[in-house]
Amino acid sequence: MNQVFQTPIEYLKGVGTTRAEVLKKELGIATFQDLLKHFPFRHIDRTRFYKVCDIQPDLPYVQVLARLTHFEIAGEKHTRRLIAQAKDDTGVIELVWFQGVKWIEKYLSVGKVYVLFGKPGIFNGKPQMAHPELELYNPAALNQRGNLSLQPVYSSTEKLKQFALDSKGIQKLMAAMLDQHASQIEENLPAYVLKQFILMGRADAYRNIHFPEDATRLNEAEKRLKFEELFLLQLKLLKNKLLRVQKFKGHIFETVGYYFNTFYQEKLPFELTGSQKKVLKEIRQDSQRGVQMNRLLQGDVGSGKTVVALMSMLIAIDNGFQTCLMAPTEILANQHFQTIKNLVGNDFVTVDLLTGSTPKKNRKVLHEQLQNGELKILVGTHALIEDAVQFQNLGFVVIDEQHRFGVEQRAKLWRKNSIPPHILVMTATPIPRTLAMTLYGDLDISVIDELPVGRKPIQTFHYFENQRLRMFGFMKQEIAKGRQVYVVYPLIQESEKLDLKNLEEGIEVMRREFPMPDYQVSIVHGKMSAKDKEFEMQRFVKHETQIMVATTVIEVGVNIPNASVMIIENAERFGLSQLHQLRGRVGRGAEQSYCILMSSQKLSYDGKIRLDTMVRTNNGFEISEIDLQLRGPGNIEGTQQSGITDLKVADLVADQQLLIQARQCVEEIFAHDPQLALPKNQVLQIALQSKNTGLSWEKIS
Ligand code: ADP
Ligand code: MG
Repeated sequence: MNQVFQTPIEYLKGVGTTRAEVLKKELGIATFQDLLKHFPFRHIDRTRFYKVCDIQPDLPYVQVLARLTHFEIAGEKHTRRLIAQAKDDTGVIELVWFQGVKWIEKYLSVGKVYVLFGKPGIFNGKPQMAHPELELYNPAALNQRGNLSLQPVYSSTEKLKQFALDSKGIQKLMAAMLDQHASQIEENLPAYVLKQFILMGRADAYRNIHFPEDATRLNEAEKRLKFEELFLLQLKLLKNKLLRVQKFKGHIFETVGYYFNTFYQEKLPFELTGSQKKVLKEIRQDSQRGVQMNRLLQGDVGSGKTVVALMSMLIAIDNGFQTCLMAPTEILANQHFQTIKNLVGNDFVTVDLLTGSTPKKNRKVLHEQLQNGELKILVGTHALIEDAVQFQNLGFVVIDEQHRFGVEQRAKLWRKNSIPPHILVMTATPIPRTLAMTLYGDLDISVIDELPVGRKPIQTFHYFENQRLRMFGFMKQEIAKGRQVYVVYPLIQESEKLDLKNLEEGIEVMRREFPMPDYQVSIVHGKMSAKDKEFEMQRFVKHETQIMVATTVIEVGVNIPNASVMIIENAERFGLSQLHQLRGRVGRGAEQSYCILMSSQKLSYDGKIRLDTMVRTNNGFEISEIDLQLRGPGNIEGTQQSGITDLKVADLVADQQLLIQARQCVEEIFAHDPQLALPKNQVLQIALQSKNTGLSWEKIS
């Protein structure tokens, strides 16, 4: 934007130092530009008059033309109020003021016609307006003042109101600002883009989002500003991606050799799914381009990401590199380690484990083997990123469960070799395509969207509390068949005490219902030491126990194929993605698996949708779409730090189409003009340099 918009807000006519301070404090408005971007949250339609008989309580602000028939002051002291009646040819409306009674009284005159303006309601079965604005009806003046238009309503605060900066007051400032400076608002999108997407010019858009000429222009202004916001976000993301490609060379894996081929031909116990093959191909292509790979692998729980990761690692090893796999918890690291060892067998490739509990003695050996290149696959927790861990030639890194690691932690892995290793991030939390475009906008994305053949879909049921006996019966029946059962309780930070109580009571009930020695129960919760947790886990893994009662610590990645029943207590308290994650713990073996969602009788509207969705579908991507609709993008895991929540006009749910268009448009621009050197793209250079995009780019990985 033009330099003038950096001017401190106090210099705007009608502001001054005091009000500037309040604006800054209350709304974060410090400059002209900040004010301009304080968009109205709605507009009031002053283009039409409502009839009294059409008034309904859920209408927004409306205008009514009515003749005053009566008014009086009622109540005493604290209840003192002015009550009036006015009528048109369809009915009577009551008006009431609790404040400014004296002043309003002077203004009222029985028998005259007024323009009433306010939020209508129904009181005592009759139409009513509290604190309406009113003015004497004067047709000539109405037209002249351009009053017949959409008026902006701005958010304000009590404090601001003390300084006459209610919505009206802000409106005045905005009008002054636009009168003086609208013509200085510079275009920041190329002319050909405006033309292609039929977008309003920028200055026009700012004028019309605040003071629309009519409803159509308002829509056009909104579209333009939304597009701009999404477009600039994508421009920045894709620019970062390009920069990385230019800046970081990548290891080239020339051959597929002994390790991969032997594994594929002799050790892989199943046929890969089409999706798995496709992803392997994508990774293979990445590793031959000479550019560092940064790929996100999305796939539902159980879709077989681990084996894809392993096979990619084998290609790296075939080319003389070392590899590592980092998991967010010790339990998971352990599990990956076991899985990989089982898959590769003995005497094939060197694999080791490094976590916080690895004894010093073992560590020393491990460090040596890493430095002399002997160790090819290292699995571990974030212990891997410690400086003491030095590889001879790290070429490929797999990170499981992306959202638990910060960008900084990932960057540390990059620095473990002079040329950064290729990075594959695996996540079992499917996110909607549009969200991925933004959240991981500068990563390449691979998707495994089919489950291995022969896998029986998990059957999900929703039981209310009064069906608990039935649920116990079902558990017994499955345990009698030799299956194992998870019972999960919610753990929500704010009410940890209450949750623990829930869990303890739950355990009591379970113990009573499933007494020893016929039944053995494992218990795992967050308050236990890592050692105790591990011990209890192992009992369950070894099938010494049939029931695992747990809080959500088992959420991530645990793989116990014989556990085929998942009971989720207080299921209404879990979010959709969490429910889906939990359900993914079962359905990993050959047996038919089940998930039972227990809830209280009383369900919120959203709660019901969540549980119904779970019963209806097993598809993680479908579930994530619904989750996004229910919660909005700001509440989806991983978005908080991402800048998505800073979007001011665009909405990642409602504006998906626009986002896709913006993304494609930016992709095409970079494909033709990666340096943005063409004159027609000059404005984009400027836009990229502008710091005032309002988005925290640097936090987007
Ligand atoms: P994810 O990490 O995506 O949740 P895993 O990689 O842990 O899934 O795989 C889940 C289970 O499915 C594992 O037991 C794995 O051996 C098995 N599996 C993976 N791919 C296939 C396949 N193509 N056919 C049959 N089983 C498979
Ligand atoms: Mg996994």
